[in-house]
Amino acid sequence: MKRHLTFVFLLICTLQLSALAQKRVLDPQVLLRDVQILSADSMAGRLSGTEGNRMAQEYIEKRFSEIGLQTYNNSYRHTFRLESRGLVVEEAVNLTGFIPGKTDKALVLTAHYDHVGERKGEIYNGADDNASGVGALLAAAAYFKKNKPYYTLVFAALDGEELGLQGANAFLENSPIALDLIQLNVNMDMLSLNDKGELYASGSYHYPALLPLLQQVKPRPQARVLTGHDRPEQGKNDWTRQSDHYQFHKRQIPFIYFGVEDHPHYHKPTDVYENINPTFYPDAAALVIDFVQLLNKKRPSLRATGSTTGS
Ligand SMILES: [Zn+2]
Repeated sequence: MKRHLTFVFLLICTLQLSALAQKRVLDPQVLLRDVQILSADSMAGRLSGTEGNRMAQEYIEKRFSEIGLQTYNNSYRHTFRLESRGLVVEEAVNLTGFIPGKTDKALVLTAHYDHVGERKGEIYNGADDNASGVGALLAAAAYFKKNKPYYTLVFAALDGEELGLQGANAFLENSPIALDLIQLNVNMDMLSLNDKGELYASGSYHYPALLPLLQQVKPRPQARVLTGHDRPEQGKNDWTRQSDHYQFHKRQIPFIYFGVEDHPHYHKPTDVYENINPTFYPDAAALVIDFVQLLNKKRPSLRATGSTTGS
């Protein structure tokens, strides 16, 4: 009898462990290290066209290569010219790689890696905005490299967001894949700082076919998905035009934008690694991966249902 009970106990332990293992979609230490490196003082706020920005490019390129993303035209680097309020950057750089799926239809995952640089001698490190999105982008790439997706997944770390969403515009103007193959843009911008465990998924107002899928994303211990911040009557709290996803939306390509509510460190020198939330952030990044995985399983017909508003 005692032996029997021991066996049952061990069986339960094993089942629980495997349930935990199933849920683990990323390594929090790797995720946090990526953010720490990208938001270090040495990168000096990663303003487009600066040495710090170039260092961030090199780091992301190295990580894409370690993870094993494929290249378009033999390079992750795609350069474009950027102009904003007197600042000219001859060689702004988007970094793009992909994992082939079972279909050419693609999901484009984006996160901008640039930030606002230095002002009056102070570094704006941009840990949450948006080293955190890039960290999650890398974690998603590593996950889907090991778990073959149905859709082809394009991973784009974009430049020039802070200067008018110009990296996203350049990506779409010169897209490595036909725009009508893009089923959805999943944009990540500020994922690491929220005290209430709330990660917003914005965009289902424009693309209602995505709402049931977002509602199926199971909460994780430290973070859960809320929908909203996408209605025109919300004024400044409508995030439709706030980050790179707007360039996709303008071209009638559906988007979901993941991000947190504004916080006191937003666009301040205090947006540093030490101020991100090390328990919320890994779960928030995992929720984005859960959503992309759900899309690969359920394959909703997104372009057919279309946009309600267009721009
Ligand atoms: Zn941002």
